[in-house]
Amino acid sequence: MFSWQTRTTSPEATEELAMRLGALLPAGTLIRLEGDLGAGKTCLTRGLARGLEVPADEPVTSPTYTLLNQYQGRLPLHHFDLYRLQGGEDLFEIGLEECCASPGVTVLEWAERAEGVVQGGLRIELVYCDETSRHLTLSTDEPTLEPLLQQLAASWDKGEAV
Ligand code: ADP
Ligand code: MG
Repeated sequence: MFSWQTRTTSPEATEELAMRLGALLPAGTLIRLEGDLGAGKTCLTRGLARGLEVPADEPVTSPTYTLLNQYQGRLPLHHFDLYRLQGGEDLFEIGLEECCASPGVTVLEWAERAEGVVQGGLRIELVYCDETSRHLTLSTDEPTLEPLLQQLAASWDKGEAV
């Protein structure tokens, strides 16, 4: 288990951190985002999309009503938002498991609503601190993702440029 915490002081910083993470992600990665409304989950997903080379002119917005948005970068990006999820069965209907098993990157906003159904991958918890800052905790149990997260943490803490 590797866990790393940091604080971003602007939406741009959250996006930048996520962009660096997205650039490192291998196919088949699941990212579980947890945090309240306005915590920055969609902002972070936008950065992941950039890091996955989704074209910059393609808007990345919350799939709150559609539950799923999909983007094509160097890997397919499946972006779920479970905020309006009705019951356990919906998870099957919206194709969550199918996406998790596919060789793309699956991002789940409100992953806490799929607790027990989807596990593993990379968990990112976002907590609102004040208007412009958020506390982020990134953790994983997966041997393939641990070194990647360590690399991101080391370069970010040193303040290295991309
Ligand atoms: P969520 O998807 O978790 O509901 P959003 O990403 O849609 O949240 O919205 C986050 C809001 O908070 C945006 O308006 C963004 O500009 C703002 N914000 C302020 N500071 C930060 C920060 N450090 N990181 C991310 N978002 C931030
Ligand atoms: Mg959102």
